[in-house]
Amino acid sequence: MTAAGNPASPADSGLQVTRLSKTYAGPSGELSILSDVDLSLVPGEAVAVTGPSGAGKSTLLYILGLLESPTSGTVRLGDVDPFALAKVDQAKYRNQRVGFVFQDHHLLPQCTVLENVLVPTLASPGETSGAAERAESLLERVGLKDRMVHRPAALSGGERQRVAVCRALINQPLLLLADEPTGNLDRKTAATVGALLLELSAEQGTMLLCVTHSQELAGRFPRRYELTDGRLENAS
Ligand code: ADP
Ligand code: MG
Repeated sequence: MTAAGNPASPADSGLQVTRLSKTYAGPSGELSILSDVDLSLVPGEAVAVTGPSGAGKSTLLYILGLLESPTSGTVRLGDVDPFALAKVDQAKYRNQRVGFVFQDHHLLPQCTVLENVLVPTLASPGETSGAAERAESLLERVGLKDRMVHRPAALSGGERQRVAVCRALINQPLLLLADEPTGNLDRKTAATVGALLLELSAEQGTMLLCVTHSQELAGRFPRRYELTDGRLENAS
């Protein structure tokens, strides 16, 4: 509820990207990657972004995850402008509010499956009570209950990516960013991982923004956009 007693509007708890632009300085002048990108999501919503290689899809996700900063434009997630935060709060924002799934699973080889899922909870132990139970229930949800003490080397590619999805969701982020999450998987495994991403984020009320080359994966999403020439065009 707001101070005035009204229920929070979707804009108070969603993602609001406004006129976001990104340029890089190149040897032969400025390189425009993103131009006036507007995008809004409400909690629980899932959006896919397709586009050719080099279109700026990863750049868009990196900006939303604070791994890059925009040249201009604004981002709001819930009631927070992450680029206005102090560095220490930006790290907390990245850890608490955003989850990432990459094309490569990036699991720690020396840790078990359960330990890998728990890694994001180590940064703020006081705020993640019940983390072990949550990790176990997420792993059970993705069908890996009997693999919790295995190391990543003992898992298939699809199983590793399912662990990466659990790790991304362990802190119950508001926003899940997935960058070609099925890019290294065969068709059938990709379909399983894609379905899990959509189901789990919907169950948690997490907003899901997924960039992909795969029309098959994009086709599962209720809202689709294409990024071309730096602009986000509706593709639904
Ligand atoms: P996509 O994920 O759609 O394949 P990227 O977001 O990775 O595309 O890259 C978009 C463009 O931005 C590419 O042309 C890439 O070379 C360029 N680019 C990415 N990072 C940098 C950087 N740090 N400096 C200069 N150019 C960059
Ligand atoms: Mg990319």
